[in-house]
Amino acid sequence: MAPIVIVDAGHGGIDPGGGNSAQFTEKAMTLNISLYQYRRFQELQIPVALTRSSDVTLQSEDRTALVRNSGARYCICNHINSGGGRGSEVIYSIYSSAAFPRLIADELEAEGMPNRRIFTRTLPNNSKQDYYYMNRETGSVETVIIEYGFADTPLDADKLAKDWQTLAEAVIRAFCEYTNLTYQPPKTAPPSTGGGSNNGGNGNANPRNGSGNPSTGGGSDVPDWKQEAIDWMFDQGLLTNEDWRNQADTSLPLWAEAVILKRLYEKLKP
Ligand SMILES: [Zn+2]
Repeated sequence: MAPIVIVDAGHGGIDPGGGNSAQFTEKAMTLNISLYQYRRFQELQIPVALTRSSDVTLQSEDRTALVRNSGARYCICNHINSGGGRGSEVIYSIYSSAAFPRLIADELEAEGMPNRRIFTRTLPNNSKQDYYYMNRETGSVETVIIEYGFADTPLDADKLAKDWQTLAEAVIRAFCEYTNLTYQPPKTAPPSTGGGSNNGGNGNANPRNGSGNPSTGGGSDVPDWKQEAIDWMFDQGLLTNEDWRNQADTSLPLWAEAVILKRLYEKLKP
């Protein structure tokens, strides 16, 4: 089956990219993000392809040919910025709309990476052609270039090193919103370091780091396996009232049990 989306890990092989920090090279970070997104699209049963799945060199003509000939309708190009600045940038073609880039920027912001700008750029001598070859040479594929942050801005670089998975996940959410395909949070939640959310992107801070932490506070002693099961219910959106999270041994009223079962039923319904 032809892919709906093709994920492009920027640079690779002899080309490390320019977005390098002490903690990562651009080519390695874009590959991490891309492989993550590839697995997630598979998990969501959205047909997906990759331009590269390892540290290989791809000439720009080969890269664009892979995208053009993939049969995909969308292409997500992953990059890390450099040159001083703060936050993400999303670049799109003059022949497509800002809708998808806007959603990407919003979802990245919900994960704590501010957006610097979304924009198009044309060749200096031809206002009918995109400046960036991934926008210009990928035919009818709707291609967005995502610069997740600036490798040479410590705030961004630290965020990327720590939270690249939740940022990669934010783009999956944006894609599903844009294409109206069903989104489900990851089965194995990306490790959250505080600001991330894996409960659908509503930006809730991780309550496990909150004042009611059952493993450290209040003298309660909830074994991990119990708390993990409770947290799973929150991650799945089956339980939403945070008050329940720290009451491992309290029984739920019948109505709450009914709500959980109803939500589970809705989720499983084809
Ligand atoms: Zn790049």
